Amino acid sequence: AGRLEGKVAIITGAASGIGAASARLFAAEGARLMLVDTNHQALASLVENLERSGAQVISSQADVARPTEVAAAVDATVAKFGHLHVLFANAGISGRGLVPEMPLEEFDRILEVNLRGAFLCARYAIPQIAISGGGSVIFTASELALVGSPGAAAYCASKAALLGMTRALALDHGKQGIRVNCLCPGAVDTPLLWRSAERLGRSVDEYRAEIISRMPLGRIGQPEEIARAALFLASDDSSFMTGAALVVDGGWTAR
Ligand code: NAD
Repeated sequence: AGRLEGKVAIITGAASGIGAASARLFAAEGARLMLVDTNHQALASLVENLERSGAQVISSQADVARPTEVAAAVDATVAKFGHLHVLFANAGISGRGLVPEMPLEEFDRILEVNLRGAFLCARYAIPQIAISGGGSVIFTASELALVGSPGAAAYCASKAALLGMTRALALDHGKQGIRVNCLCPGAVDTPLLWRSAERLGRSVDEYRAEIISRMPLGRIGQPEEIARAALFLASDDSSFMTGAALVVDGGWTAR
């Protein structure tokens, strides 16, 4: 049997990158899924693909920063599947720029999606996970919650904040059987990484070569490698883990 057999999971930022890889893996492991993303088209084609392989999956075009949209997605999940066991709050945006030059709106939007979005997903999902008898909440933070990166002050702040929220939520909800952990991926081959290159004014090839040269494992990660760590945190394989940050970064922060 799959490692998520009988489980119902919500994945946000599911239409691309780490979220999409996790949707495929969670479905293959038997989970019933609610996939949330702002990108309707990408979401629709992923859902179609998963359905064709026999998965039970629904989706919602929702912005995680908007409370009514998040609440509606959680309600729709429980209405369809009757339960909720796993929240993988993974939606995020990168944004790069020096603080003195960064428009305030951009700072606000990064915090709004990466932090407030995760908060809102937790806010509406946790009561339902509790009613379902417990489960697992996973936030996608970043290795940049642990180390700095040039031109990424707002992003680093938003991701470090998720570590604090992870620990506090773990204390608040452990007795309800809800584990709360976060993932700290390193450089992963997704559109988000390559948009960062653009924002830094670098060519993708140059940016890739620089990352690879500094990376202890000598390569960039694949979304599937992060999805496997998310599966570990979502499943009972991590039954005694809560309040933790799981670093999956090819050794980048070991320097
Ligand atoms: P991605 O851009 O491929 O996917 C992110 C998805 O989130 C997109 O489909 C996008 O439409 C969606 N999204 C963005 N804003 C949203 C919102 N407000 N509401 C709902 N959905 C929204 O990027 P990815 O690399 O797969 O990123 C996933 C997570 O991993 C992010 O939180 C990111 O910060 C984190 N992360 C990525 C890397 C990396 O190198 N790629 C490293 C560390 C952490």
